[in-house]
Amino acid sequence: MKPEAKYWEPLDKSTVRCRLCPRECVIADGNSGFCRIRSNQGGKLVATGYGELVTISNDPIEKKPLYHFYPGSYIISVACNGCNLGCLHCQNYSISQYSCPTKYVSPEELVEVAKRYASKGVCFTYTEPLIWYEYLLDVAKVAKPKGLPIVLVTNGQINRKPLEDLIPYVDAMNIDLKSIREEFYRDVCRGGSLRATMETIELAYESGVHVEVTNLIIPGYNDSLEELEELTDFVASVGLDIPLHFTRFYPHYELTSLPPTPVDTLIRAKFLAESKGMKFVYVGNVPDDRLNSTYCPSCGRLLIKRSGFFETFSYLEGSRCPSCGTEVYGRF
Ligand code: SF4
Repeated sequence: MKPEAKYWEPLDKSTVRCRLCPRECVIADGNSGFCRIRSNQGGKLVATGYGELVTISNDPIEKKPLYHFYPGSYIISVACNGCNLGCLHCQNYSISQYSCPTKYVSPEELVEVAKRYASKGVCFTYTEPLIWYEYLLDVAKVAKPKGLPIVLVTNGQINRKPLEDLIPYVDAMNIDLKSIREEFYRDVCRGGSLRATMETIELAYESGVHVEVTNLIIPGYNDSLEELEELTDFVASVGLDIPLHFTRFYPHYELTSLPPTPVDTLIRAKFLAESKGMKFVYVGNVPDDRLNSTYCPSCGRLLIKRSGFFETFSYLEGSRCPSCGTEVYGRF
């Protein structure tokens, strides 16, 4: 028996509207919303994906990517089927746009697994965790009293009220800002709202959640200088210390005819963001230690050396540069 979903309203005796994310699906009895894991059962919205894990893995936290949240640690990472976007380039489309077999794991069991494997916390990732709202909230209520932080890797597509209610339970978020153009969300992500993701970044950061932002640069789609400049200006306006990851696109799903992002484009984006005062800018999906290591924004000293996801060495003293004492954004 799955629990009733939060944030919905009846429209008539048999139709409901889900109010969790900006898509606001109107769902007839017997049907599911766009995300496929919230269903109208007899005029009531039910969280049908509650606790249904499609995958579980103990990952390096750098893989999320989170570079300033307990670097070098491992974290139990779980996912559900489904998503509230339908990106043409989705790397995980076999579970986000289609469904694979799942196994039910209760919140208590998941936290027990995290403890058993000495995980740093519990991470909801691979597909969109916000559509799994009721489950991640229940996991957080069990995990946090045991000292396990909650981490979300998310597209930030959520309405204001559920986000405000969720934030006290979340410790860190990597938020995927797919583009700074509404039309990209409409045409490439098959819906969603740029404004919602921007508000999630702003509210999470202002509320003290540890925030990192990822932008996957796709050749010909979101790689113009003007767009990268606007995107960087927005992130910089929220916080110059937010770690910003420009990530390399590789052909996936319905965008297989494109080439991978030229490394020069990614490096140009990094220099652009740094010229705007961004302190920690990284280039993901490119095996170059210099583009993925952390340097002191004041004196330039190497602070955290990264070689791939599995080798991380920190020179930080607490959260400070050992040479000049500058405090570095994050939790260490
Ligand atoms: S959470 Fe799912 S059902 Fe609800 S509005 Fe978003 S896509 Fe639709």
